[in-house]
Amino acid sequence: MRNDDPALFPAAGGRHDGLPLYRHFIANEWVSSSAAPLTVVAPATATPFAFLASGGATEIDRAVAAARAALDGDWGRLTATERGRLMLRFSALVLEQLERLAWIEAHDTGKPISQARADMRAVARYFEFYGGAADKVHGDVIPYLNGYNVSVVREPLGVTAHITPWNYPAQMFGRTIAPALAMGNAAVLKPAEEACVICLEFARLAVEAGFPPGALNIVTGLGEQAGAALSRHAGINFVSFTGSPEVGRLVQEAAALHHVPVVLELGGKSPQVVFADADLQAAATTVCKAITQNAGQTCSAGSRVVVERAIFEPFMAMVAQRFSELRIGRPEDDADLGPVINQVQQQRILAFIANARKDGVPVLAQARPAADLAQGYFVPPTVFGPVDITNPVACQEIFGPVLAAQVFDTEDEAIAIANGTEFGLVAGVWTRDGARQQRLAKRIVSGQVFINCYGAGGGVELPFGGTKRSGHGREKGLMALEEMSTTKTVVNFHG
Ligand code: NAP
Ligand code: MG
Repeated sequence: MRNDDPALFPAAGGRHDGLPLYRHFIANEWVSSSAAPLTVVAPATATPFAFLASGGATEIDRAVAAARAALDGDWGRLTATERGRLMLRFSALVLEQLERLAWIEAHDTGKPISQARADMRAVARYFEFYGGAADKVHGDVIPYLNGYNVSVVREPLGVTAHITPWNYPAQMFGRTIAPALAMGNAAVLKPAEEACVICLEFARLAVEAGFPPGALNIVTGLGEQAGAALSRHAGINFVSFTGSPEVGRLVQEAAALHHVPVVLELGGKSPQVVFADADLQAAATTVCKAITQNAGQTCSAGSRVVVERAIFEPFMAMVAQRFSELRIGRPEDDADLGPVINQVQQQRILAFIANARKDGVPVLAQARPAADLAQGYFVPPTVFGPVDITNPVACQEIFGPVLAAQVFDTEDEAIAIANGTEFGLVAGVWTRDGARQQRLAKRIVSGQVFINCYGAGGGVELPFGGTKRSGHGREKGLMALEEMSTTKTVVNFHG
């Protein structure tokens, strides 16, 4: 599919400078902004292919009002079963149009087409899982004093605000919007301007599925304008934010103005701990994949590997071998990894690599993008090691395909290194020793721990979220439904 084919972008309502122009989606209508539109660039070629409306406080006001009206209107009157059915219909539409949607996501983010297809299946799965759960969240009856009936009912929070990053625009939409709608909230989404065209295509499918006006609203624009206006809006009842720790702090401060609860999914520096008794071939394959998938632009990327000294050299040789075989390419090449999102990120990652080299950190492997990719935002996947815990490549989130290998002698030391950053999102443990598996799972400070695997295919069912600087609150699984709803205790005295 060609990326300049207008049929690829049916949700784009107009044209600007000869390219599709996407507008805001408010109360099931496409809404323009007076501000100059933002350019949407394909990272694999650094070429513009669409424009986005640039919203601010005015559009956010309008979207929040539309969401409130939906709660008081048709959307708020639907039963949980009816909400679930709309979500299942949406899920089916995503699967029906998977190929077109995947190409849009691949162009916008630069990711390999297979990854974009997997992302669409994940979105469909989010709406299937939460659509199916919508009418299965029940309340409680509490035994209390004689003469009383006490029930605890689950209610929507109200207008939920969602601010998402550019690395998985589609998956983030599914992850945060599906549970919000399942619980009967009305959502206002501010996706990242770097890549979010897919969200507007999803909005079009939401209309087709039959969602009433205002259940879902999307305002595109810059974080400091649209994002800031949304997070400090007096009319919202909740904020879900996924992004950097720095902006997460701003969002939480803004939400605090009106005592609005927040779920923050921030970054990570996730370790995989490899013991000498592990299945080293399997571990090496997973270690390579966990940092190169999506070009390392994954909050839960396995950006560190912590290896027992006895096997450090042979194990890292296995990892290096896999790095040397990595295929790097454009979406249509369907390689192992594509470019990173933009030039700023590209330069930032290259600077991390150059500085570590300058510090004398050994390079264990590096794959080079082919010369004909020079136009796009490609970076060379690189393995450093052994790296001291204080070196930036071992303790800062790079958000690129750069792996830091660290070495340990004892189990205690392995745990100290694994816990030795400000983050705590995901960890992996590779060992055949069952008791050790249990000890590490308990002592590693992290939202998820994987044993002899990593990521486990994304896992819509699995509660996900951070500790420490990785954030707080949980998404995914049934826990997301608790985060996105509240309870009311009804005490009835009948004598
Ligand atoms: P970011 O700069 O924090 O941006 C995230 C979102 O916040 C974007 O929509 C951005 O808008 C918006 N934003 C920026 N400034 C804002 C402000 N003052 N008020 C409100 N919103 C504002 O993060 P990013 O660079 O896009 O994404 C990379 C980061 O996300 C990494 O740290 C990564 O680890 C993290 N991440 C975490 C998870 C997780 O689940 N834990 C998942 C994915 C990514 P614009 O970009 O449009 O300006
Ligand atoms: Mg883009």
